[in-house]
Amino acid sequence: FKHAPPNIRAVWLSTVAFADRDYLVYDDERITYGQAHTRVNAIAAWLWAEGVRPGDRVAIAMRNYPEWMLLYWACVCIGVAAVGMNAWWVTEELEYALKDSSPKVVFCDEERLARILERPAMAEGARLVVTRMEGPPEGVLPFSEVLVRGGDMPDVQVDPDADACIFYTSGTTGFPKGAQLTHRGCVANLMNMGFSGQVQGLATLRANGIDPASVPAPNPPVALLTTPLFHVTANNCGAYAVTAGGGKMVLMYKWDAGEALRLIEKEKVSAMSGVPVMSREVLTHPDFATTDTSSLLSLGGGGAQLQPDLVAKIDKEVATARPNTGYGMTETCGIITSIAADFFVDKPESCGPAMPTFEARCVDDDGQTVPPGHVGELWVKGAPVIKGYLNRPDATAESITNGWLHTGDVARIDEDGFIFIVDRKKDMVLRGGENVYCAEVEATAYRHPAVAECCVFGVPDDRLGEEVGAAVLLRPGHTLTADELRAHCAALAARHKAPRYVWFLDEAIPRNASGKFLKRALRESLKVEDAG
Ligand code: ATP
Ligand code: MG
Repeated sequence: FKHAPPNIRAVWLSTVAFADRDYLVYDDERITYGQAHTRVNAIAAWLWAEGVRPGDRVAIAMRNYPEWMLLYWACVCIGVAAVGMNAWWVTEELEYALKDSSPKVVFCDEERLARILERPAMAEGARLVVTRMEGPPEGVLPFSEVLVRGGDMPDVQVDPDADACIFYTSGTTGFPKGAQLTHRGCVANLMNMGFSGQVQGLATLRANGIDPASVPAPNPPVALLTTPLFHVTANNCGAYAVTAGGGKMVLMYKWDAGEALRLIEKEKVSAMSGVPVMSREVLTHPDFATTDTSSLLSLGGGGAQLQPDLVAKIDKEVATARPNTGYGMTETCGIITSIAADFFVDKPESCGPAMPTFEARCVDDDGQTVPPGHVGELWVKGAPVIKGYLNRPDATAESITNGWLHTGDVARIDEDGFIFIVDRKKDMVLRGGENVYCAEVEATAYRHPAVAECCVFGVPDDRLGEEVGAAVLLRPGHTLTADELRAHCAALAARHKAPRYVWFLDEAIPRNASGKFLKRALRESLKVEDAG
């Protein structure tokens, strides 16, 4: 992309070169790049005819259907910000985001339409278009009508600093905020993705004793997108990279490890990304041993730490694939760091060095850079950092100082520049003057063979302020008592970090759409008197 203007319109338009290749696969639907271009042009022409112009916003509120991507490219190609609506949101949350972003058009599926129609005022002033629904209600246009008219891509100059899309943060620490991702930022992320792929490829070849110069150009990537397209993980890191490389994107309606294995074999998937728990589920699925996974070149996940034991497991158990992860945020259009293959096996607790378009440093409470190896809040600066949060100048000013984004993550950077995420600033247990990092306690607990899932949080305590609490799900057929877990933790880390309260759960710990534990809800549902 050296010579292309830094806008996503240029990225999409360049893919017309791949016209005959398969682009999107969903169940038995298959869409080539050529067909996708015809449809994207039709959508863009329809939006233009509706009077939607650069600077306007259009909402996409649906599951991971192929239309999601087509709508996305159509919007960004005409300088209109695509607003990704979380498909897991209940009516109130959807209402909040629709009012916050005031889109000119809302493209939705039947389930999201039902939520909107519960309180139609939430979409006031917006045209409603519904996909995959027979006989929509009066006033709602079927998506097929948009495609039917056809049309050419309007000729629009897209400003690199305009919003390409608005994605809401996961809401792990509070209410989701609408992050404004610019075209320039998204292109910079794409370059970082390319860089990380290159490093990964070279490391894999070297590990196998192969001279990189002797290797023919790789086949286009085949990616299994397992996470929702309204987050940067699937969109900016998954979809962008696959599309720019002329690859094939395999979509799933919802996550299911058995189905993922079936698709890996059938579509010859080369990369599965998502959140780490998905890779773990694939590796421990009963069908894993009988599935042909030889097409896989990388496996891993981001959005949360890929536990060190999983790094080793991927390296050992999938002959062709190397482990990889990335650390990133909605506020950085995608990855800040990435790490793969031997680098990762050597430093499994690191999420890698900062990517080329970033500067990174850890700071103390006064914003002063701490020496290498010391823990502090991670601040990053570079083109992918968002312009700000929609309608939230207060939150923007709090999070970005002179271009430096305060990530809210506690980290350390070693002498080689590798970053280690220790925990979230808001996710520490303040136990009698000692900071206990939840992520560290969780990692220790996962080293016990009986632990399938573990979520650590602070429990109010009269004497110490907070005590360490842990909710645990055991692997089937295993037993563990609270005392045994405490002894295990105390043997591997300082005694005060061992959970004082332990709850054993009967079912999986609830997670949000980005695979993160719903920690606050979980904490509120557990009573101290029920703990072991
Ligand atoms: P909110 O900002 O609304 O509370 P959120 O921070 O969970 O939600 P996202 O932008 O989806 O929203 O997630 C970014 C965060 O995810 C990072 O700040 C970091 O805490 C965590 N994260 C992402 N990747 C990794 C990783 N590889 N290792 C550890 N943590 C990660
Ligand atoms: Mg955040």
